[in-house]
Amino acid sequence: MKIIADTHCHTIASDHAYSTVLENVAYAEKRGLKCIAITDHAPGITDGPHYWHFLNLKVIPRIINGLLVLRGAEVNILDDKGTVDLDETALNALDWVNASFHVPSCPPQDEAYHTRAYLNLAKNPKIDVIAHSGTECFRYDYETGVKAFKEYGKLVEFNNSSFGIRAGAGKNCTEIAKLCKKYDVPVIVSSDAHFALSVGEAGHVLEMLDEIGFPEELVLNADEERFFGYIKEKKNIDYYELIKQI
Ligand SMILES: [Zn+2]
Ligand SMILES: [Zn+2]
Repeated sequence: MKIIADTHCHTIASDHAYSTVLENVAYAEKRGLKCIAITDHAPGITDGPHYWHFLNLKVIPRIINGLLVLRGAEVNILDDKGTVDLDETALNALDWVNASFHVPSCPPQDEAYHTRAYLNLAKNPKIDVIAHSGTECFRYDYETGVKAFKEYGKLVEFNNSSFGIRAGAGKNCTEIAKLCKKYDVPVIVSSDAHFALSVGEAGHVLEMLDEIGFPEELVLNADEERFFGYIKEKKNIDYYELIKQI
């Protein structure tokens, strides 16, 4: 199994990431990807870009070197109501929204609090992806959460960076992936790259999915037609039409 789109990548717009949009695109192309989403941190953590960043992503062409470039964000979950740190106007300007917990924008609470947050977040139609939810300090009731993600059509993300930097994440991600398999929940495999050379890296996650016999049909971005079919239906962006126009 390999991925054809990387839906979680940071650029220098987030202070703790070190590559530009074009560097990420160039490396994605080198890796043979067909799509990349630019998903810098929303303003709830201090090293994210200014609010205007998210309104102005339209200046980036949809297609660069044959790749579809999605305008995205990684929004922060702020509380147990599932509040996120971009308003409707900004969210409406985006193609792809990853939502995740980070300690600076929401200090970890107990399992019940995190579960409430995910259940409320799941109901927000502007959120596409529940990102890196395997972080140990933000543990939630995985079974309850995964059932809600299924009910509200959320994608569950497993990213390669989690396995290196987030303590306990590998074990937790495996547990969550098994539940996604059990309840037939589509997942996304991404890099969460903070440097161009990591764009498209997914080896740790693919290995984990392989170990648990995860069905490839449930990995949205493991197949070009499946992924672009979703983008066309949900986002009204037709990659094949855009490519023809170039
Ligand atoms: Zn994150
Ligand atoms: Zn990230």
